[in-house]
Amino acid sequence: LFSPIEMAPRDPILGLNEAFNADTRADKVNLGVGVYYDENGKVPLLRAVQTAEEARVAEHAARAYLPMEGLAPYDQAVQTLLFGTDSPLLQSGKLITAQALGGTGALKLGADFLYRLLDKRLVAISDPSWENHRALFEAAGFEVVNYPYYNPTTHGVDLEGMLQGIEALPEGSVVLLHACCHNPTGADLSFADWTRVIDVVQRRKHVPFLDIAYQGFGDNLQDDAIAVRLFAESGLPMFIASSFSKSFSLYGERVGALTLVTESKVESAMVMSQLKRVIRTNYSNPPTHGAKVVAKVLTDPALYELWEEELAEMRDRIRLMRQALVEKLKAAGVTSDVEFIQHQRGMFSYSGLTQLQVATLAEDFGIYAVGSGRICVAALNHGNIDHVANAMAQVLLT
Ligand code: PMP
Repeated sequence: LFSPIEMAPRDPILGLNEAFNADTRADKVNLGVGVYYDENGKVPLLRAVQTAEEARVAEHAARAYLPMEGLAPYDQAVQTLLFGTDSPLLQSGKLITAQALGGTGALKLGADFLYRLLDKRLVAISDPSWENHRALFEAAGFEVVNYPYYNPTTHGVDLEGMLQGIEALPEGSVVLLHACCHNPTGADLSFADWTRVIDVVQRRKHVPFLDIAYQGFGDNLQDDAIAVRLFAESGLPMFIASSFSKSFSLYGERVGALTLVTESKVESAMVMSQLKRVIRTNYSNPPTHGAKVVAKVLTDPALYELWEEELAEMRDRIRLMRQALVEKLKAAGVTSDVEFIQHQRGMFSYSGLTQLQVATLAEDFGIYAVGSGRICVAALNHGNIDHVANAMAQVLLT
């Protein structure tokens, strides 16, 4: 049965972790991860999460199944977080949300649902994008193409290229967009840029699919949702995949959600009934714990405030590390432009390091980054930043 099976290619990032774990150098650093580490190099347990968990354990609640679409207070809280407390959409009946297994699960639900819905199964993702976007949509049966996104010369978004790329797609294509803190580049669109993107998406009758995995890591919870809110104002139907893995530091609990904006209450009922079929035939219903915890934090004013403070702490620490890295690179003699590292947003920096330089960093210094040059700034701390900056300076200067 299994004899024709060949070894699947190694996941580039998980492969990197294996190489990192096998490295015996004491000062090794893993910048390849997609996880926020605190100043002590640990994945934090947020105080807001801990408090909500303690309250939940004290309830000694029985573990019945959740409905297919998940916990209702959670789904509602996700909508409020996305659209804002004052959004008329909240009461419109046009929103449906299904709790999902992380952001990945939300994307997969959306992809499976769209596959059933559309005749033209074409999705366009940014060049570059989170590496799982392509694989996930291909596995769901889509053809995946790229639209231009990153300009390595300016270290920013190639907006004109992006607009032209989206314009040129066949009408009715699915366009996957990173709502904030673009992974892997850290380069985001401005308010004005978004209005232009929305205009093209609308004109070409494309289907917008927003991926929001880092809400709160850019500026704050409100401003980071600007793309979602502008699309909502445009009145377009859309898909949104939320992830709370990073913002609640709940990676292993798999807390995410898929939200759809439909055109009417009647439509919502029908869409939800079909979405439930996708859920039922995949995993039947989602797990309880993470959603209970997140719903508690999002709906309890004191815990919400605490969570916002903790999110700000994470965001500010990343900014501090960006600034320190730039300063230390310059102090180590790097004269090329590195300021852009400070302006990129979210957990990552597209550092501009070449594949060869990344290999040298691993081999000579025990510093592991993704081959594309993506480094996780959230993995830097005061204990490892000098080693990283000096090593980066050495490879950049040779
Ligand atoms: N989208 C993007 C852009 C991401 O970076 C990630 C996680 N790295 C995800 C989705 C998936 O999130 P989750 O871990 O919640 O599945």
